[in-house]
Amino acid sequence: MGFQTLTVRTRERGQIVDITAEVRRLVREGPMADGLAVVFVPHTTAAVTINENADPDVKHDVLEKLREMVPQREGYYEHGEGNSDSHLKTMMVGNSALVIVEKHEVVLGTWQGIYFCEFDGPRTRQVLVKLISC
Ligand code: ZN
Repeated sequence: MGFQTLTVRTRERGQIVDITAEVRRLVREGPMADGLAVVFVPHTTAAVTINENADPDVKHDVLEKLREMVPQREGYYEHGEGNSDSHLKTMMVGNSALVIVEKHEVVLGTWQGIYFCEFDGPRTRQVLVKLISC
């Protein structure tokens, strides 16, 4: 059955992009009515998570806290690309999210959205969505 690919273009070095609508569209138009959808980010400096989609201030606060916890520059960083903080933030947030699909709809809590997390933008990124019928 393969998988579907979403393209996300980011504008900032650190940015959280709500991709809930795009994932919902893929699931609605896809062949699977019931099962699971794996949302996977195939990058080492970008991640995906599920969180609050009602108040946009949450995205800001999370990005600021991650910036504070993982500074862009540290004297002991050795990675030559200068983006060790981006790799660390990606490891903290994770590369995949799993959601339930029922009757061609993604099942999320009232306040939940699926967030693509850019930590080394701006870039053009991919998000892979694999549907697992079960
Ligand atoms: Zn790097």
